[in-house]
Formats: sequence, C-alpha cells, structure tokens
Amino acid sequence: MENCIFCKIIKGEIPCTKIYEDSKVLAFLDIGPVNKGHTLVVPKEHHETLLDMPDDLLAGVAKATKKIAKAVKEGMKVNGFNVLQSNYRVSGQIVPHYHVHIIPRLETDGLKHWSQGKYGDGEAEGTAEKIKKAL
Ligand code: 5GP
Ligand code: ZN
Repeated sequence: MENCIFCKIIKGEIPCTKIYEDSKVLAFLDIGPVNKGHTLVVPKEHHETLLDMPDDLLAGVAKATKKIAKAVKEGMKVNGFNVLQSNYRVSGQIVPHYHVHIIPRLETDGLKHWSQGKYGDGEAEGTAEKIKKAL
C-alpha cells in the first residue's frame, strides 16, 4: 500500500528500531511508547484489520507475539504486559495496517483499564443473541 507508514517501514523506506523479523512478520519499537519496550508486531503483508487477516498469517503473528512478549517481559524486567490490537478508527486504530501492541507494564505506571458497565435484566441474553445470530 503506497501511503501506509508500516508498509514503508517494512520496505526499509522509513527507519525503525527492529526487534524481530521472520519471513512474514516484523516487530519494532513503537515510536511513542506507553512504557519503554512497547513493541509492535506487524505482518509484512498489508491487511487493514483483524477481519482482513488470512488465518494462517494471523497464526504466524500470534506465534511471533508470544515469542516477543516473553522477550519483552524478560528483557525489560517487568512482571506483566498487555497485548492490545485495535480495529477501525472508532476503536482508536490510527495506522490502518494490522498490528499488535505488546505493552510492558509497571506497578507504578498508573495506567487504568477502561471503565466497565453492567447489564440490566435480560439484557445480556438479548445482547448475546445479536452476536450469536451473526456467527
Ligand atoms: P494504533 O492506534 O493504530 O493501534 O497504533 C499505532 C501505533 O503506531 C501508535 O502507538 C504509534 O505511536 C505508532 N507509530 C505510528 N507511526 C510510527 C512510526 O513511524 N514508527 C514507529 N516505530 N511507530 C509508529
Ligand atoms: Zn501497510
């Protein structure tokens, strides 16, 4: 994709701080880390969202994510990490090239997960039905 920033990184047209590479996947440090060591795992082929990813490539990215997450945890000497993946602009996806964030977490980083709501009477069942009908 001509104007895709991650495709440009993959082609070597824009520099990155590389962490890992294989035939299908490139991983590099996020330029704006949530915490130091924040790494992006990116398929070399351009696909926009999870729903566009071929299953075998998705499996390759998942396998690489596990390997790199272990290295991030050990290398950065942290006790945990988040794996985050956003789809479509409404979710906060800024770069429309599928990617997985590995975010090292510190006890002191002060980050909070999103707030949670609750279901009213019967609402969970109706909600589940909507999703199950679309499967
Ligand atoms: P998204 O919100 O799309 O899931 O996250 C995109 C991520 O890509 C952001 O965290 C942003 O800091 C990172 N990013 C955007 N442009 C570049 C770049 O040119 N180089 C690197 N290394 N990271 C980038
Ligand atoms: Zn791309």
